Amino acid sequence: MSKTILVTGGAGYIGSHACKALKAAGWVPVTYDNLSTGWRDAVRFGPFEEGDLTDRARLDEVFAVHKPVAVMHFAAINLVGDAMRIPGTYWRNNVMGGLTLAEAAVAAGCMNFVFSSTCATYGDQDNVLLDETTDQKPTNAYGSSKLAMEMILRDFAAAHGLNHVIFRYFNVAGADPDGEIGEHHRPETHLIPVMLDAIAGTRPGLTIHGTDYATRDGTCIRDYVHVSDLVAAHLQGLDWLLAGKGNRVFNLGTGTGFTVREVIDEAGAVTNRPVPVTEGPRRAGDAACLVSGSTRAEADLGWRPERSDMRTMIADAWRWHQGPGYER
Ligand code: UDP
Repeated sequence: MSKTILVTGGAGYIGSHACKALKAAGWVPVTYDNLSTGWRDAVRFGPFEEGDLTDRARLDEVFAVHKPVAVMHFAAINLVGDAMRIPGTYWRNNVMGGLTLAEAAVAAGCMNFVFSSTCATYGDQDNVLLDETTDQKPTNAYGSSKLAMEMILRDFAAAHGLNHVIFRYFNVAGADPDGEIGEHHRPETHLIPVMLDAIAGTRPGLTIHGTDYATRDGTCIRDYVHVSDLVAAHLQGLDWLLAGKGNRVFNLGTGTGFTVREVIDEAGAVTNRPVPVTEGPRRAGDAACLVSGSTRAEADLGWRPERSDMRTMIADAWRWHQGPGYER
């Protein structure tokens, strides 16, 4: 069996951590990335093939050269704010791109597909804990585009036998514990890195997007999971697929929700510095509360998060943020 895995988005935050974990486990991760949001210097754990997801000829070439046994599909755009403003870009990139990739995989006979989906496919559900059977009602085009890709995979499984594992991520945080790679978006909009920039003084402050939600302190609740734990689940999902265990959807969250204010308090404690904060209006498209209520990944895959407590996630992110790899 080929030891090669095609990793789309391998130059990005989660994809680069997946490549590192794949290499450590004896796989050869081939990164396919258009570098629109990823970083060439994050591709250190296997070959690099530059290309766009919508470029079918380029994908065919890469499948033919590397003959991967599976695809891990991370490449996507993922900002709720942008998705509300420019939904067409989200559909083109995440759905047309994902569809082209799935068609190329089937044509090449690469029938194992691991897909990065999101809790944003659930939408606003009145503070209930979310499991894989919860209705999916996305509130923004990011969630809609990921849900559409899930449906494409189901149809391709039925028609073409494309085996897939779908992971619905909650909020991914933290950085490689070795400090080699980490989160690095330009522009940055995610809560923890924005907050660390504010603490470090490289941006004026953090604005809380909405303080009038029906939650315990008025701010949104999210379930945060460490990127290292998240990618560990992908390796287990790959084994699941290669063992022929079939198509399966898994939430990846810890089941513990933190409000924005609670995250800010933890960051103050970890960094021992004040967090400059202002309160602003709600951000369009945000759900009040997204927390996983599933134990399926633990039960089926044996997945156990090890670094997903808030202190460790912020400490790992802060170490990366302060280190030489983080470009300010
Ligand atoms: N958030 C915030 N200020 C920021 C960035 C994010 O208050 O500068 C809030 C956001 O409204 C949401 C939570 O933090 O409730 C997590 O947002 P993030 O963008 O990190 O991830 P998302 O949940 O959108 O995937």
